[in-house]
Amino acid sequence: MVSRFECDKVRSCSRCGGCCVIREDKNLKTMDDLQIRKKIFGDHGVLYSKPTWEYTINITQKEKKKLESLAKTKKVMISIKAKKRIFENNELVILDYYLDHDTCPFYNERKKSCLIYEDRPKICKDFPHTKPNQKHDYPKPNINFEEVLEKIENGSGEWI
Ligand code: SF4
Repeated sequence: MVSRFECDKVRSCSRCGGCCVIREDKNLKTMDDLQIRKKIFGDHGVLYSKPTWEYTINITQKEKKKLESLAKTKKVMISIKAKKRIFENNELVILDYYLDHDTCPFYNERKKSCLIYEDRPKICKDFPHTKPNQKHDYPKPNINFEEVLEKIENGSGEWI
C-alpha cells in the first residue's frame, strides 16, 4: 500500500488533513491480495476477511464505543467494521475494527480540523510515529481460509 501523501515528520503539522484521508489507493491485484491474506491467516492466525484496500486505521473495541458515542453527540454518520479476526478457544473473535470511510467522518474539511481532537483514537495521536502494538502470532486455526471466508459471507451461526 502506498500512502496518498507525504507527511513532513520534522516540521509541525500543517493541518493538510492528509492523515485523515484514511483509505489507501487500491494497488494490488485481487489474486495477489487474496494470496497475501491467505498467507497471513496460515502463518499468523490473523484473518482479514475483506480485501486489504478496504481497511483504514485500527480502532480498538473501547475506541469503537467511544467513537460511536461521539458520532451521536456530533451528529456524524459513521460506519465501523471488523478488521482483524483471530481464533480464541476455537471461536472466531474480532481483534480490532476500522472506519469504513475514504476520509474520516470526523475530519472537518472547511475548518481543516478534527471534530474530536481531544478524543481521537490512539493511532491518530501517535501519527506519524505509529508502531504496531499488537502481537503478530495467534493460535493456528483448524480450518482453511476459504471456508472461514465463506462462513462469514453467509453470516452463518456463530461466525461474525
Ligand atoms: S479522528 Fe480526527 S485525527 Fe483521526 S483520522 Fe479522524 S479527523 Fe483525523
